[in-house]
Amino acid sequence: MVQLNKEGQKLSKTGVSSNFIRTIIEQDIKSDKHNGRVLTRFPPEPNGYLHIGHAKSICLNFTVAAENGGLCNLRFDDTNPEKESQEFVDSIKQNIKWLGFQWNGEVRYSSNYFGHLYELALQLIKNNKAFVCSLSAEQSRDYRGTLTEPGQNSPDRGRSLEENHALFTRMRNGEFADGEYTLRAKIDMNSPNINMRDPILYRIRHVSHHQTGNEWCIYPTYDYTHCISDAIENVTHSLCTLEFEDHRPLYEWILGSLELVSLQAISDLGESELTRSLPKQTEFSKLKLNYTMMGKRNLKVMVEDGVVAGWDDPRMPTLSGMRRRGYTAASIRNFCESVGVSRSESVVDVSMLEHAVREDLDRNSPRVMCVLNPIKVTIKNIEQGEVEELSLLNHPKDESMGRRNVPFTRELYIDRSDFEETPPEGFKRLALGKEVRLRGAYVVKCEEIIKGNEGEIQELICVADKDTLGKRPEGRKVKGVIHWVSLVYGQPITVRLYDRLFTVENPESKDIEDYKHVLNLESLEVIENCIIEPSALNDSESCRFQFEREGYFILDEIDSSDGGVVYNRTITLRDSRA
Ligand code: ATP
Ligand code: MG
Repeated sequence: MVQLNKEGQKLSKTGVSSNFIRTIIEQDIKSDKHNGRVLTRFPPEPNGYLHIGHAKSICLNFTVAAENGGLCNLRFDDTNPEKESQEFVDSIKQNIKWLGFQWNGEVRYSSNYFGHLYELALQLIKNNKAFVCSLSAEQSRDYRGTLTEPGQNSPDRGRSLEENHALFTRMRNGEFADGEYTLRAKIDMNSPNINMRDPILYRIRHVSHHQTGNEWCIYPTYDYTHCISDAIENVTHSLCTLEFEDHRPLYEWILGSLELVSLQAISDLGESELTRSLPKQTEFSKLKLNYTMMGKRNLKVMVEDGVVAGWDDPRMPTLSGMRRRGYTAASIRNFCESVGVSRSESVVDVSMLEHAVREDLDRNSPRVMCVLNPIKVTIKNIEQGEVEELSLLNHPKDESMGRRNVPFTRELYIDRSDFEETPPEGFKRLALGKEVRLRGAYVVKCEEIIKGNEGEIQELICVADKDTLGKRPEGRKVKGVIHWVSLVYGQPITVRLYDRLFTVENPESKDIEDYKHVLNLESLEVIENCIIEPSALNDSESCRFQFEREGYFILDEIDSSDGGVVYNRTITLRDSRA
């Protein structure tokens, strides 16, 4: 569905302005570069869970394709079997669907193309564009040179075509140990771009692969695999992040060095079209968020160290964690659209993400009352056993969300922090001899404090002004409104409150020796025996609520059981840091 603005220009669904990638695609369509086609791909490596940074790339790839009548492939970039697993494949597929996107056709894997990649490597050898090298990893580093010094040719660079062919075949047949040989492109050891200094195309790894099992003992490198996979799939726009900018010449060298006819033979498009349609790589800047560790490698360490409960811990910036925390897919999509796409590196304030979810939840969450730190209140002019069913709006600004009944009884709970024995100046909630309104119910006045042996407050005795239901009290103003839950009908739940995982803006900074030094030790607070109004647990439709005055919460499906209900706080109602 493409919307047009007044000038007839395409707008994204949210109607936001264009970005440089949208502009490139529009121009390519105008100039008929890819015969008007747009095909993008999202190429995760299944070596961890997706994080909010990946969401930016997913939203970009799927949205720009859809806006132009195109499609987006999901391709697992699975060339490092040791670090990858089926668990990660499954979580990634699920996350993308949850975000609201559907990939084109079947899920693809770079490993689907291992056979083609191998044949094409033999072709590079035949055309004197690749050679088998016996330098060890350490020697290769010495030969590679530095940013300021050129590299040196490998002593194996002059090997004959026949010898290269024979050795590469033997590599594939498992005749050599890991690291004994590599296949390298023959480009230029003097290139100012280190990526062009005869980069490795294949390495020997005697490991089994989550998709291909033990079929292969040589695995192609990312650089060799990615561009060819794009070409095989007829991708038009290969969008990636800026760290690949220096790899672009290699991407183009590899595709340019292969015989077009053989690429055509394995891709779906006809001859003339492919000539015009070689995929083009375009880079944009990564999403960075302050107070957030983002790299998969770092997140993995946190999981392995046990500082979080897993990849889907609600404090993690993973999509699985954020989902469990209560982030909605729409709020993440809106956030990604609002941060925009450019080539400049910047750090986004995590409060922008929090704003996006607040905005969505405020509009869409029904309200209920839940007392996190209960203290008992007895309303002495209500009879024991008397129940008044009060009808409350589920959303103060949206009547279409309906109403619910909330039982009002003689014994109630309010939050401990809503009562002060010695109230400071201007305190608007409950105090001895003072009045407050119970949300949706009566104005009550505290007449007596009952204390235990240790002097702790155990109960408050109040009296209700029965003439205040839906009415202002006669002759006086009562400003404070607090939430409450019936002691008889309220249900106990466990609530988990979350805070940022890190105490510093840039936990990934090189200056930080050990991330554990900058962990926020108070990022999780668990409160048991909170009391929630009964309607929340009876409502099977909704597992997401605003708990009045406390924030937005979501039922934790994983940790809730018949024996107990756990709610995670997604976010507080307001940004108290601002
Ligand atoms: P990480 O650095 O977190 O390990 P990665 O880049 O190694 O991530 P991949 O699975 O290789 O993860 O990435 C899949 C796609 O997501 C790539 O196109 C990559 O450029 C993109 N991507 C990864 N991180 C970000 C980010 N922070 N912002 C935007 N796109 C990202
Ligand atoms: Mg990676």
